[in-house]
Amino acid sequence: MKKRIVGNWKMNGSLAANQLLVGTMLAGLKAQASQAELALCVPAPYLAQLQALLSGSSVVWGVQDVSAHEQGAFTGEVSAAMAKDFACRYAIVGHSERRHHHGETDAVVAAKAQRALAVGMTPVICVGETLAQREAGETETVVRRQLAAVIHVITHGTSEIVVAYEPVWAIGTGKTATPEMAQSVHAVLRAQLAAATQHPKRVPILYGGSMNPANAASLLAEPDIDGGLIGGASLKAVDFLQIALAAKA
Ligand code: PEP
Repeated sequence: MKKRIVGNWKMNGSLAANQLLVGTMLAGLKAQASQAELALCVPAPYLAQLQALLSGSSVVWGVQDVSAHEQGAFTGEVSAAMAKDFACRYAIVGHSERRHHHGETDAVVAAKAQRALAVGMTPVICVGETLAQREAGETETVVRRQLAAVIHVITHGTSEIVVAYEPVWAIGTGKTATPEMAQSVHAVLRAQLAAATQHPKRVPILYGGSMNPANAASLLAEPDIDGGLIGGASLKAVDFLQIALAAKA
């Protein structure tokens, strides 16, 4: 299976900066092709720009969140159907920054995943423990609970989802889980997915949390790590390209 390297720009960018960043990435990929499937999840106002810049390239794009509601009186929210209008392939749901800053519960995350699936986007469902939860020995319980909430409501079959294991203490901190630490959680999620899915197809499980050019190859070499969700390093064309090149099929 091709590895997937998904960038998450978070709330960064401008029309001018995006053009430069994407242009540099595409030029780099022309010089040296990646064996991975590459995607960029960008702020919603830039979806039209990304669609124009990336159409016809090997890079796909996505949105960083969708509303749990279909449409209506939800000022400021962006629906899954709106993101799909811009041909988004992916929708990140349940990122820890949304769980933490916006109080998103497992049930809300599950509803968002459903909305994405209903319009034909693949939800990238983020799960992960806080430092306190890891230190209390709760990692497995927490990630299993977060994933179970989504599996529970997805009627389309779990093969259409992507899961991202993102330990909260590793996001944007420069602290990365060791390949062994990440692999052991991925194996837990793999077993949970295998038990829940009726499809023989493997659900991709990405690792996210300070992945960078120096640690990408060793993380991506683990048997249950199918790619990366990349925050900070996706804002630097050279770093993102190096991670993309480290992802061997
Ligand atoms: C993320 O935002 O999903 C992420 C993993 O961020 P970073 O790579 O900066 O830790």
